[in-house]
Amino acid sequence: MTTTRRELLSTTLIAALPAISSAQVKPSAFTLPRLPYPVDALEPYIDARTMEIHHGKHHQAYVDNLNKALSAHPELAQSGVQSVLGNLAAVPESIRQAVRNNGGGHLNHSLFWQTLGPAKTAPKGRLSSAIDKSFGGRSAFEEKLRAAGLSVFGSGWVWVTAKGRDTLQVETSPNQDGPWLAGATPLFGLDVWEHAYYLKYQNRRADYLAALLQVVNWEFLTDRYIEITK
Ligand code: MN
Repeated sequence: MTTTRRELLSTTLIAALPAISSAQVKPSAFTLPRLPYPVDALEPYIDARTMEIHHGKHHQAYVDNLNKALSAHPELAQSGVQSVLGNLAAVPESIRQAVRNNGGGHLNHSLFWQTLGPAKTAPKGRLSSAIDKSFGGRSAFEEKLRAAGLSVFGSGWVWVTAKGRDTLQVETSPNQDGPWLAGATPLFGLDVWEHAYYLKYQNRRADYLAALLQVVNWEFLTDRYIEITK
């Protein structure tokens, strides 16, 4: 049996390739979701540079640090971030705070990007009825959201959650905490960390909140309200 030059060459090439272990090709458990619109889509209310840094740097850092925290616990990563946050007691104490901060950061922002959009929309259907019943109308609801946003000391979020099938409530949380920690699924959250507005609005959180309310995607929230109150 003769070995051709070509066969020899390919054998040599294959031998020279490093072995690829499954660990090397395994993707990270969590990845940064794409923005559902271009970074400048929310101008002039939310500027493109803020969106680039907020999404590409801050949210990316939460994803990276969550992957790092859970790297030795693939079983936790596999169960999904909402499930992990809903049962933090099951997370080893050495990484619990990191998972709370970065898992919260990842989940909160993943919902936040979807909650915003460039199109002018209005709450409809059951969401509109729940807003009327709970707050006496959309403008009173938005006033309540602004007031809640101003009441957060330091960094945190304003949350809107469903209570029963036709009532909404507004609450706030510090840091990257959210209703997830109590096993609840919020309708939406408004980010009032300074990183969300400082480049354009500096210390004027009230101006940021007023602008943010101009770019809420009520169409998305109308559908989401039906989903989470099924
Ligand atoms: Mn943020």
